[in-house]
Amino acid sequence: MPKFAAGVVRFQNEVYPQKQELFEKLSQGQEPEALFITCSDSRIETAMITQTDPGELFICRNAGNIVPPHTSHTGGMTASIEFAVAALKVPHIVVCGHTECGAMKGAMNTDGLDALPHIKEWLGYSKAAVDIVKEIGKDKAEQDQMSMLLEQNVILQLQHLRTHPTVATALAMGTLELHGWVYDIKTGGVSAYDEDSNEFVAVNDRYAAEFAKLAGADSCSHSA
Ligand SMILES: [Zn+2]
Repeated sequence: MPKFAAGVVRFQNEVYPQKQELFEKLSQGQEPEALFITCSDSRIETAMITQTDPGELFICRNAGNIVPPHTSHTGGMTASIEFAVAALKVPHIVVCGHTECGAMKGAMNTDGLDALPHIKEWLGYSKAAVDIVKEIGKDKAEQDQMSMLLEQNVILQLQHLRTHPTVATALAMGTLELHGWVYDIKTGGVSAYDEDSNEFVAVNDRYAAEFAKLAGADSCSHSA
């Protein structure tokens, strides 16, 4: 039996009983806090990184955490974004890139991708990010160029998100917030895009105001 099939048996016997109430509640419907768009890379474990339970993240994964810009053509990403924003009314969308991303390595050198024609075409949605890095990062070392590309790709995909009518409308109404993250596989660190400074900063700095509010609410409830 493959390891993952044995895991299902263990889940049913050991994990499910501990969370049975949650699973029964979830069978009535979902109200996720975010649409979480990340790479298919096996080293990213969304629930572990964000410490979320089932029902909390609506997840779309693909090679390179890419969001094709909106067109009249229907695709899996477009339909999922439409459903998450217009039907589920998620208040947040996160685009999360990651270090050691094979897709982004391929995007930097598409000549090496002739045997993978679909990947090659798909990575065309990252071309503007690659061009930015090849221009403003041309004197940088390869590793620094890659770090820059991970960030630029996330920023580019956030721009693509804004071309989707449901996203544009929710942003205009003030009911949706966009977030750009990069996850570091080796250190577990997450940096988040700060639009004001146009930089990626540590997640605890990016959300310092929100964390302070949470801590304040906690201490209020403790003293009450
Ligand atoms: Zn990746």
